[in-house]
Parts: sequence; C-alpha cells; structure tokens
Amino acid sequence: MTLTTLRASLINIVLPNRCPACDRFLSAGERLCPDCETAVLLPHDDYCHSCGKMRCLCKKRTFAYDQAIVVSRYQSDPEDPVFRAIWALKNSRNQNFAYFAAIIMAERIKHSADYGSFDLVTAVPMHRTKQRMRGFNQAALIGRLLAQELEIPYRDDLLFKERSRIAQHNLNAAERARNVSTFGVNDVDLDGKRILLCDDVLTTGNTLKRCASLLREAGAAHVYAAVAAVRLRSAEKEQSAG
Ligand SMILES: [Zn+2]
Ligand SMILES: [Zn+2]
Repeated sequence: MTLTTLRASLINIVLPNRCPACDRFLSAGERLCPDCETAVLLPHDDYCHSCGKMRCLCKKRTFAYDQAIVVSRYQSDPEDPVFRAIWALKNSRNQNFAYFAAIIMAERIKHSADYGSFDLVTAVPMHRTKQRMRGFNQAALIGRLLAQELEIPYRDDLLFKERSRIAQHNLNAAERARNVSTFGVNDVDLDGKRILLCDDVLTTGNTLKRCASLLREAGAAHVYAAVAAVRLRSAEKEQSAG
C-alpha cells in the first residue's frame, strides 16, 4: 500500500465516502455507486443539444446559449436519486455529484465537434451573501472541475449577482418575486471568446439565458451551457414513464 492509498483509506474511515444519491458507502475515489451511476445518467440523445430540454422548446423560445450539454434529469421529489444528489451537493460536504457531473460533461464535450475550441469555463454566479452562508457556489465548483478536466482556464470574474436596484414598492407581486436579485457582467473583454457556462440545474432556462446574454454583450462569440441536471416537466414525466 502506497502512502497515498493509505492516506485515502484513513480519510475514508474518519469521513466515510458515500453515494450522494442513495447514501451507500463507497470506496475512496468513487463518486456514485454503480447502481446510481446507471440510474442518473441521462443518455446524450435524450435531450435537445440546443436548449438542453428533454422536450425541445427551440421553436417556442430563444435561449441565448448556442448549445447545451446535460448530464442528468431530476424531479422535485425526495425519492429521486438526482434530486438527492443535488441536495447533498448544496447542503452537505458530499461533493461527489459535482465531480461526477464534471467528468461526464468533459467526456461529452471531448466527443463533440467543438472539442478543443473553447477558451474558458465560467459559472452562473451566486449572490455573495448566499455564497458566504453556504461556503461555496456549487455551479462554480462544477465549473472549476470541468476546466481542470478540459485543461482550460476557469474564470470567476466575469458575471456577478446582486440585489436589484429597482425599488420593490414600484412592482406588483409577480414582479417583486422576479426582482429579488439580478445578474450583471463585469467590464471584461470577451471579444470572440468561446465560453462554457456551467450551472448545477436547468429549470426554466431563464438563468442560463440571462447569463449567456450578458457574456455575449461582453463580446463572447459562442456560449455553450453545461448543466448537471435538467428538471423534468410534468408532460415529460408522463413521456418518460411511457
Ligand atoms: Zn447510490
Ligand atoms: Zn431545443
């Protein structure tokens, strides 16, 4: 046994490595148990490579990102393994799902025609107060790991999230809900850059759309959304069950 494997074994005794989807014990270095790995992986052909949705919305909406790469799908249900893995990523020290997602994203990108053309990776930002409370931004964690896998730079100085400056009392209830925070782009020159934009989940697509638009305003030529999991809508659940 080498010193590295001995150290990994000792850490595994003190802080056992567990599957983030089912809580089963794992050996050091494993990210998901084999059962969950099979269960959570969304086949690459089961979602639209442009909008990232399982039922394409490209004819109804524009998304501002050119292409999308997705690892898993989830439902807002505590029994759903991907829902549990995302919950663990946000609320515990178990970061296995971030590693798993970054490795699969990198594999899918390496098999795409665009492999080798990306200049950098960035992530959907979190408001600094929330990030201070949580200790980290899970989208940025996935982004950093993806950048490592692809051996390209990770940039955390492009986008930011802040409280909206529009006074809440001038808005109706729906507008207030949307006005809690807003995204912005720093004064950076992204002229002609090809960017991978990471997030942990894709729900309506509005967040990624807004961030991709801002990167384009700063000059980006190509924005590719990379997300760990897309949320299934009700119609898709029926389709998926059938
Ligand atoms: Zn498992
Ligand atoms: Zn689509």
